[in-house]
Amino acid sequence: MARIVILGAGISGHTAALHLRRKLGKEHEVVVVSPNSKWNWIPSNIWVGVGKMTTDQVTFALAPIYQKKGIVFHQALGVAIHPDGDATNGPFVDIAYTEPARAGEKATLTYDYLINATGPKLNFAATPGLGPDGHTVSVCTPGHAIEAASRLSDVIEKMKQGQRQTLVIGVGHGTCTCEGAAFEYAFNVEHELREAGVREFADLVYLTNEFTLGDFGVGGMTFTQQGFQTTSATWTESLFREREVRAIVQAHVEKVEPGVIHYEQLDGTRHTLEFDFAMLLPPFRGADLAAYDAGGNDITSVMFAPSGFMKVDADYTPKTYSEWRAADWPSTYQTPTHPTVFGIGIAFAPPHQISEPRTSTNGTLIAPAPPRTGMPSGVMGKVVAETITDRINQGSNAPAHRASMASMGAACVASAGAGLRKGTAAAMTMYPIVPDYETYPQTGRSTKDTYGEIGLAAHWIKAMLHYMFIYKAKAKPGWFLIPE
Ligand SMILES: Cc1cc2nc3c(=O)[nH]c(=O)nc-3n(C[C@H](O)[C@H](O)[C@H](O)COP(=O)(O)OP(=O)(O)OC[C@H]3O[C@@H](n4cnc5c(N)ncnc54)[C@H](O)[C@@H]3O)c2cc1C
Repeated sequence: MARIVILGAGISGHTAALHLRRKLGKEHEVVVVSPNSKWNWIPSNIWVGVGKMTTDQVTFALAPIYQKKGIVFHQALGVAIHPDGDATNGPFVDIAYTEPARAGEKATLTYDYLINATGPKLNFAATPGLGPDGHTVSVCTPGHAIEAASRLSDVIEKMKQGQRQTLVIGVGHGTCTCEGAAFEYAFNVEHELREAGVREFADLVYLTNEFTLGDFGVGGMTFTQQGFQTTSATWTESLFREREVRAIVQAHVEKVEPGVIHYEQLDGTRHTLEFDFAMLLPPFRGADLAAYDAGGNDITSVMFAPSGFMKVDADYTPKTYSEWRAADWPSTYQTPTHPTVFGIGIAFAPPHQISEPRTSTNGTLIAPAPPRTGMPSGVMGKVVAETITDRINQGSNAPAHRASMASMGAACVASAGAGLRKGTAAAMTMYPIVPDYETYPQTGRSTKDTYGEIGLAAHWIKAMLHYMFIYKAKAKPGWFLIPE
């Protein structure tokens, strides 16, 4: 009998758990440790944040699904990994319960295979005054998004009384990722303002660390659209002009005070921006997991990068931006020191930036971090589940399944306003996610397989993905036929 422990029940961890349970015999145990009782389809938090959806529409309780499937669930945080075990146990993890009835209780779980799928720690603390405990809102969790919707409705009320309001949407630090989510929220808010009949009273500002609009942390894209080549920068800039959203690029938010954002730009200039409503995403770091060897010595820095993300089979040799190669990216997600430990989704440490890292004249790094979106996170969950299944069934030498972001495509549908008849979304596909300049010397990506389209049909796709992925995550009949 083997026990597989999965830390994190988000997109990557939940996908891995369901595939493992489906593929492995009942004699093996699949255990999920995650601090929240509910699963969340995070992409739809955008719609909660504008009051178009409720938290119940984007979440569901995990325990009944896991009970039905025969997956053991601990509502708890993973705290430390002991990949070499200790004097009495084989490899194990320390966990701390968050389930209200057991809050404060601690336990250890031994494992044969461990998957770290703990996603991002929302690092609001990196920017003084940022986030729900400071002066801005967020849409990263359903709770945050509900608060954002309520504050948005307050400013809409003021505009209805004829008061001008400034709304700032974007990212709250020079090293943030997930610009696509900030972009989506900006255009959903713009759509809501028009629907509420108050657009003329709003100054809508998009504040980003991207060097140009349309960078999205992937260095931008070159599209083929109706037979012509264009770039995501041109395409995105025209949307900003058309919807009259003012963009401030190359910005690092230094601090937020009540109603005022202080930011620095790449040219070294410092500015203030007054706001009535601000949704700024936080930078991400890895979950605060520690690691210890068999003697109890701290090996956290061996298993994790300084960012808190787990080191896997990537090439982490320090290199300049022009030296990195697509082959530096990991494909098995196995840690180099412990072949039974894997890091997937946002939890693995990327080997380098995809967007060119730039530093301001004051020495501040202003560079979008590489995104690891839902689709690749799900694919990583599936391939690691396949590797572990083969190793349990065929022996530990069975080769690892592979899926590198440098040979994986991704589709991303960014909502620009919800509505069955008036909705719009920007649908983008790119192949590969991480540019490969050896195979595609011109742009790093296949221009045939990288394209963008904006319109109502893309909104329908976005809405369909919401229902399809919740169906899949609920493990309803045939769930595994729906691709990650
Ligand atoms: C607002 C927003 C909108 C987005 N929209 C899109 C989109 O439209 N399309 C897209 O592809 N991607 C989108 N993304 C990105 C997408 O949500 C992520 O790519 C995806 O969730 C990553 O999956 P993951 O499993 O790595 O992390 P997560 O899904 O975040 O899951 C991490 C899990 O680990 C748990 N956890 C944390 N710490 C611990 C611990 N110590 N021990 C145990 N468990 C722990 C968490 O509670 C959570 O269950 C969006 C992100 C945001 C914030």
